[in-house]
Amino acid sequence: MRTVTHRLAGGTTVPASPRQSDIFDPNSGTVQAKVDLGNKAVLDAAVDAALAAQPAWAATNPQRRSRVMFNFKTLVEAHIDELAALLSSEHGKVHADAKGDIQRGLEVIEFCCGIPHASKGEYTHGAGPGIDVYSMRLPIGIGAGITPFNFPGMIPMWMFGPAIATGNAFILKPSERDPSVPVRLAELMSEAGLPDGILQVVHGDKEMVDAILDHPAIAGVSFVGSSDVAHYLYQRGVAAGKRVQAMGGAKNHGIVMPDADLDQVVKDLAGAAFGSAGERCMALPVVVPVGNETAERLRAKLIPAIEKLRLGVSSDPEADYGPVVTAAHKAKVEGWIQTCIDEGAELVVDGRGFALQGHENGFFVGPTLFDHVTTEMESYKEEIFGPVLQIVRAADFEEAVALPSKHQYGNGVAIFTRNGHAAREFAARVNVGMVGINVPIPVPVAYHTFGGWKRSAFGDTNQHGMEGVKFWTKVKTITSRWPDGAVDGGNAFVIPTMG
Ligand code: NAD
Repeated sequence: MRTVTHRLAGGTTVPASPRQSDIFDPNSGTVQAKVDLGNKAVLDAAVDAALAAQPAWAATNPQRRSRVMFNFKTLVEAHIDELAALLSSEHGKVHADAKGDIQRGLEVIEFCCGIPHASKGEYTHGAGPGIDVYSMRLPIGIGAGITPFNFPGMIPMWMFGPAIATGNAFILKPSERDPSVPVRLAELMSEAGLPDGILQVVHGDKEMVDAILDHPAIAGVSFVGSSDVAHYLYQRGVAAGKRVQAMGGAKNHGIVMPDADLDQVVKDLAGAAFGSAGERCMALPVVVPVGNETAERLRAKLIPAIEKLRLGVSSDPEADYGPVVTAAHKAKVEGWIQTCIDEGAELVVDGRGFALQGHENGFFVGPTLFDHVTTEMESYKEEIFGPVLQIVRAADFEEAVALPSKHQYGNGVAIFTRNGHAAREFAARVNVGMVGINVPIPVPVAYHTFGGWKRSAFGDTNQHGMEGVKFWTKVKTITSRWPDGAVDGGNAFVIPTMG
């Protein structure tokens, strides 16, 4: 059986892994490979190689670093079908969606091709007599990234793109559930000309994550995953003196105003709630129709649209979505469906017990719709992360703004309306980090920045765009004086001012 192992700098040897984890084929439900689960010894070896390689990479001028990014982009484009097929086979998302996963990561790499411009410092000539002030952005040294299963292409690229382009060495710890694409991306980075030791991949679970958090030579950690882990990791990393950004879970609401184009909304909701089996942190698992009449009209259109959705294996080009990632995750999603029933919501479409002919052991969950979900229900408060859409009815606009604003998560939100004023008010007032206006999945483009609020993100720097550059660099500011002739230093005991 295939084993996915760590990808360390050439010549690095580590003892054979005492622990392994299963990688499933979610379409068939069988174990298709094993992944080594590393420990502190593996991490120490990776850090030693990173420490040896990083100074020369930091000293490489930014145009040359940017050229590696260009080469990598070309290589990934040439291999995108192979990467997407590998991604689907471990994650379960359909091929076109897997290509989108890679493509959204590549857009961050495209941004990183402009790193000479994006990482420039600032300069003030003549800040005082003979005094110039300038700043430079320097790499933090060694960065680490810990990524979730749901975007095994995009999220590693969110992190290693800006970290490496700015001159750091990077150690990636991908999800143990679908680790093969991250390894393949690291191979392509080497082929693109990245020096040995600048991008290494270590595998593992909590033991490896804790080793990363505690390692004194790792200066910054970027995490994306569930909120409890994000919070734990943020606290432990910061306590160890690192800079940490930790993105967590989500429960995004879609507000449907009475004037919205409901046919379009239903199409948008079908994709945003059920695409990728709902396993997206920017999915829309809660829809909030404003007013009972809107709710009735929306529900009447949603039911047939949901019943028409086609589940299939991830290689089926006609499938709208594929299986969830593991049997454990399927059980968790179905558990939440039962909880929502027990809490008194109306089960309108039941996706449990779905079996795909010829793939009866695959981890499929049919699309599920609930109506009359209320804010007291645990199934509303918590993230389900599956193909389950909950209707929460709001009486008016104020109630609709309050729902996502008061929710513990604040990743994304969308409003559907033809009323520009309502949209503008909503965008300004809602207590959520990323807002879509007639855009169901408002993942910002790579040259803007991605990040939620409240329990959806710990730390104060977002992913990619200039926020990514800032996270992976530290600023040094130089104040210089080149006086003409004799210097009157003034009273050296008074804090210097510019006069
Ligand atoms: P997860 O938290 O289980 O795992 C994420 C990473 O943390 C993995 O690499 C895993 O090995 C590691 N990990 C798991 N448990 C740990 C523990 N106890 N201690 C230390 N490390 C641990 O998340 P997941 O199931 O892989 O991904 C789904 C979650 O990620 C969802 O909650 C989703 O909303 C969230 N997510 C958030 C964003 C965002 O940007 N906000 C994006 C994608 C996914």
